[in-house]
Amino acid sequence: MTPDDRPENRLADICNRIDRAANLRRSPHPVTLIAVSKTHPATAIEPLLAAGHSDFGENRVAEAQEKWPALRAAYPDAKLHLIGQLQSNKAVDAVALFDAIHSVDRASLVTALAKAMDAADRRPTCFVQVNIGDEPQKGGCATADLPALLAHARAADLPIAGLMCIPPADVEAAPYFALLAKLAHDEGVEGLSMGMSEDFETAVMAGATHVRVGSALFGARA
Ligand SMILES: *Cc1c(COP(=O)(O)O)cnc(C)c1O
Repeated sequence: MTPDDRPENRLADICNRIDRAANLRRSPHPVTLIAVSKTHPATAIEPLLAAGHSDFGENRVAEAQEKWPALRAAYPDAKLHLIGQLQSNKAVDAVALFDAIHSVDRASLVTALAKAMDAADRRPTCFVQVNIGDEPQKGGCATADLPALLAHARAADLPIAGLMCIPPADVEAAPYFALLAKLAHDEGVEGLSMGMSEDFETAVMAGATHVRVGSALFGARA
């Protein structure tokens, strides 16, 4: 790894690109950069924490449980986002460890999370994941089911911050980002968790409040 390839040295460039994209909007808004550290060891994450970066994303509860308790003890201001699919039987563990959960996508999970939050008296911020391309193999609730799922989540007292999506691969992402923004507007939620390494500037221009960037920061995953 050359110095230029180190995550802590790529961070400023990515933040600048986010700022530039945000400033192209009529009313610029703050954007949270979630550094997606899945598969990367604590030794790769630590320099970013030391540089003052606070928000990180993991996609598996078990992996986060291994890596994060020690990092958090050293950096208590770190915020951890769960961005991968969550099984209901892991809801208790997820609520204990994460500050935000971006993959709320079905009624049974809403119920499990609400129960876990009540028991732990801890309420991580939630995003409802929408299967924005209505792809059969993808996670996320169907766009048609979103109003009912949001109503259920609100009734269960989940702190809903917004919507999340992963657009279909290999096609232009912009129309899907615009659609998620419209759904959020129609449903009266503010947050938009969208945009990854290949398309985070497009997402910010479409109104993303949270971008999830892995390989552009940490390099390719094994
Ligand atoms: C891995 C992952 C990312 C980051 O992907 P990159 O292309 O490496 O930036 C973002 N969101 C989710 C849900 C992921 O699983």
